[in-house]
This record gives sequence, C-alpha cells and structure tokens, in this order.
Amino acid sequence: MANSADTPVFRFAPSPNGKLHLGHALSALLCHDRARAMGGRFLIRFEDIDTVRCSRDLAEAMLEDLAWLGLTWDAEPEFQSDHFQGYRAAAERLRADGLLYPCTCSRGEIARAIADDPAWPRDPDGAPLYPGTHRPRDDEPPMLPLSGQIAWRLDMARALRHAGQAANVTWFEDGQTVTGDPAVWGDAVLIRKDTPASYHLACVLDDARQGVTHVVRGEDLKPATSLHGLLQICLDLPAPAYHHHRLVLDKTGRKLSKSDGDTSLADLRRTGATPSDIRKSLGL
Ligand code: GLU
Repeated sequence: MANSADTPVFRFAPSPNGKLHLGHALSALLCHDRARAMGGRFLIRFEDIDTVRCSRDLAEAMLEDLAWLGLTWDAEPEFQSDHFQGYRAAAERLRADGLLYPCTCSRGEIARAIADDPAWPRDPDGAPLYPGTHRPRDDEPPMLPLSGQIAWRLDMARALRHAGQAANVTWFEDGQTVTGDPAVWGDAVLIRKDTPASYHLACVLDDARQGVTHVVRGEDLKPATSLHGLLQICLDLPAPAYHHHRLVLDKTGRKLSKSDGDTSLADLRRTGATPSDIRKSLGL
C-alpha cells in the first residue's frame, strides 16, 4: 500500500523471546483490525534489543502464528537489533543536552541504599526508584560522550525542566487528552548495561522513524506512556495516538506470560482451534 502523509500507520511490536499467546493475539487483532478499518498500514516490529533472550527463529514462528490468524502486514517486519546505532545517537543527543548520566549501581547497591526506608517509592514496574547515587549535581557540565558497557540514566528533574513540564505530560488516548507524570519512573535507565538501548528509548524512536500514528498495546504499558511523551518532547519526536486495551488473564487472574504453554497460539492451533475460535474466545 502506498504511504501518504495522512495514511494511519499502526504497529504490533512483540518481543520474540517465546511463543505468542492469547494476550498477543488480542493485541495484534485489535491493532490490525483498526488499521484495516481506517484504511491504514499495519506493521510488525520485533522488539529484540535483549539479544540473549530473543531470536530470529522465535520471530519467524510468531509470523507463522500471525499469518495463521489471518493477519497481513504492509512491509517487511523490522528488528530493533538492526537499529542499535540510531538508539545510541539519540542517547548521545540527550547526553549532550545534559539529560543523561552514567550509572554503575548494581540492583544490590540500590537495594542497600534504600534499605532503611521501607516506604521507598517504586516505579510502575515495581522497581525501587533510583536513589540518585551517581546523579550529577546541577552545576556539573554534561558528561563525556557515551562509552563502555555501562548503564545511562535519564536525569528526570533536568529532563522535565528541559521539556518545560512542571510535572504532567499529556497524550491523546481514545479521543481524549490524558495526563500522566513521568516522574513516577524516577531516573529511568535509557541505555542498559547489557544492551545499548532500552524499551522506552527504542520504542519512541522507532514509532517516530516508522511514522507510526496509532499505538495499540496492553494497558500494562499505559504508565510508560508518560515517560514516552517526555522522551518525545526531549527528542523532538511526533507523538502517536494511543489505545491501551484490556489484558487477557489466566484462571488465577494474572496476566498471561510466554511460559503459559497451554495458551500459546501454536499449541491451541495444534489441538484443533481455528482462527475464528481464537477471535470468539477473545470476544472479537
Ligand atoms: N514489546 C512489548 C511487548 O511485547 C510491546 C511494546 C509496545 O507495544 O510499546 O509487550
């Protein structure tokens, strides 16, 4: 399909570190169906920055499942592991603007630094907020260029000032303006020690690079949207519109995980389920 400036662009962005399950099917189908209903493009992006846990074989198996479900996509699927240089360049820009600093703290060191305070705040993923051990003082100049296998953190207070945001960031969700506070993430890691990127940084850069206009994803990622909005402002990136959908839960009320074999699409298919059974079981 030809790409014109006003064609909506949707993307489904799984991490190929296991099998697709019913939760992914809901996300992919909602995203794909909306794209088609709006005459838009539907893209697949593999979020494989964790090159140890992700593989191209698992990505291939995911494509098979998606094709079986009846999905079609409008471009060759992309892999984030092909774009590490771009993530690094963007991080370098944030560093030069004084918004990123290196941090050598291990999880254990952070746990020890906050051990005296049982009420220490946690980010939406449940990790303790960074206590600021390596955060530069306000009068310190920007750090030297990024180097080495080391984590780099966003200086949240500086980033909010840089973006001119007192606190909340807004985004467009289901036709309404929604606000969220990126400071709930504290000084988030934007370049991980083990891989030269992070979910948050790679996601906003790729959404912009691929011209994504509509993000459809699970509501567990809704809290991340405030941080994504802040990064979009700091990096002069356009902000897509968002829809965060309900999650598919298992019998005990927990979000499905890739290790729940009985709900993997491949196993459901093998035991005789049809794509329309899958749609029906998801209420679509
Ligand atoms: N890679 C994420 C996942 O598999 C999705 C990220 C996104 O849609 O922004 O849950």
